[in-house]
Amino acid sequence: MRSHTAYLTFNTSERCAIVNINPQVEAELAKSGIKEGLCLVNAMHITSSVFINDNEPGLHRDFLKWVENLAPYAPEAYQHNLTGEDNGDAHLKRTIMGREVVVAVTDGALDFGPWERIFYGEFDGRRDKRVLVKIIGE
Ligand code: ZN
Repeated sequence: MRSHTAYLTFNTSERCAIVNINPQVEAELAKSGIKEGLCLVNAMHITSSVFINDNEPGLHRDFLKWVENLAPYAPEAYQHNLTGEDNGDAHLKRTIMGREVVVAVTDGALDFGPWERIFYGEFDGRRDKRVLVKIIGE
């Protein structure tokens, strides 16, 4: 079995953002040379997400609006922020949008369903944050 590990870094200009990271993940798969296996992609921070959905800008705005309604940025509203942080909302947003995805690798490609793409969800940005890509197989 072979494996390939990469750490991608993102630094969004907005506090909350959704970034299409599919091209970077496909580039890592190409570098790996792996034809059959599994590709794990996970956020390495507890205030950001990795998820799979449609690459459609209106849907991305819907996601950001939805999580903002569920957990508004309101520093005084969260027990977590009694620690001196202001990102209680971002921890909740991360949990609802997920930590990681696993995609099958078949014949050297990510074996997606129709319209599936991989996205990075940022909920406390404007600083360097990492995403792990781990590909295993043959
Ligand atoms: Zn925090």
